[in-house]
Amino acid sequence: MTDPRRDVPRTDALLADPRVAAARAALGEQIVRHALTSAQDEVRRGCLAPADTVTRALDLLPRTATRLRRVLNATGVVVHTNLGRAPLSAAAREALLLAAGTTDLELDLATGRRGPRAPGTRDALLDALGHPPGVGALVLNNGAAALLLAITASLDPAAGRVEVVVSRGELVEIGDGFRLPDLLVTTGAALREVGTTNRTHRADVADAIGPRTAAVLRVHPSNFTVSGFTATVPLTELADLCRDHEVPLVVDLGSGLLQPHPALPDEPDAATALAAGAHLVTASGDKLLGGPQCGLLLGDADRVEHARRHPLARALRPDKLTLAALEATLRGPQPPVQQALSTDPTALRRRAQSWADRLDATVVPHDGSVGGGGAPGVPLPGWAVALPEALAGPLRAGTPAVLGRVHRGALLLDPRTVDPADDADLLAAVHAARSRP
Ligand SMILES: *Cc1c(COP(=O)(O)O)cnc(C)c1O
Repeated sequence: MTDPRRDVPRTDALLADPRVAAARAALGEQIVRHALTSAQDEVRRGCLAPADTVTRALDLLPRTATRLRRVLNATGVVVHTNLGRAPLSAAAREALLLAAGTTDLELDLATGRRGPRAPGTRDALLDALGHPPGVGALVLNNGAAALLLAITASLDPAAGRVEVVVSRGELVEIGDGFRLPDLLVTTGAALREVGTTNRTHRADVADAIGPRTAAVLRVHPSNFTVSGFTATVPLTELADLCRDHEVPLVVDLGSGLLQPHPALPDEPDAATALAAGAHLVTASGDKLLGGPQCGLLLGDADRVEHARRHPLARALRPDKLTLAALEATLRGPQPPVQQALSTDPTALRRRAQSWADRLDATVVPHDGSVGGGGAPGVPLPGWAVALPEALAGPLRAGTPAVLGRVHRGALLLDPRTVDPADDADLLAAVHAARSRP
């Protein structure tokens, strides 16, 4: 009997293996050394043949340097919150990579002096809005940050202006327990709630506006609808009231449409809100806009500049990757979210049928939806492939993972939200999930 400990491969020999070198380059030194040590331990205990040390160590390593895994969204939910909301366009992905290095983010290359931060992103936003006169734009970390800054910058505690007038029907919870009123009061604002859950009238708002009013806030209820005996004050009327009383009107759109969308007639958009007289408009960049996570603050150039100079703005500032990806989303070809909203149902049926043919499955009608923060209850008619519900788990465990919709005992895979370039991967994933024991 030989002592297995004498056969343990030496670390320097293992590190010289090209496969190990490649893993170190991809994943980093520490994690690779850790895996080698574990494999050496197994040899020492006699549970692993010395020749298998490298293979075993590589097995112990994660495939990538992040634990995030690629997931194909076959749910038909266009903006899927749990899948990271909007997938980026190819142009935006390219911009991310460029921005990951060093760029002229805050440098004027012509003069060699410091310049404004990513002015191209602001210009792209104003272009997308059609350059309404006197309108400025600022990008923040997310929609909540944009709203936080809009309200904070509107307060004037020294002058006693600390009240935010808001309808009781608009004090909404967005998701994961995030409640807008809770965020608003962190600014130090006092909420002046008016109206009722279902009905708010012009007089309710007018009566509440006074010397303590810092702003009137309109929040778009982006994830539910109220129907029946309801009343809201039209935005133009709210704007008139605010103009008469010289208080700012802040509109939180949430969804991030910059212009009206033909497929979503009830979804508010920034250009319309500004034209109606909103002083500040806030929205998310990764919902219907289809860009990276960010928040937009749009409106009166003076007010936007005042917000930009507020100390809080620095804490809510987005990074260079976001600014680059947002500009490319706005300037580049239609992002996936916009494509998924307007896909022709006939084309969806054809794609679903081609999946079904290759999977030996059936095609069923299926309504997609907008999802996270937009157009609640609006169906997007299309088609899906129906598979046994039992495949849902194995598909989530595959590489790439595939997320479908479990509905009435079936697993539905909807092509609306899958990039056609990923079709082959999706079909391979289903075949693999079926053959796994
Ligand atoms: C989504 C949403 C927010 C929050 O935006 P985030 O980008 O998630 O921070 C705020 N208000 C409304 C109305 C929303 O729909």
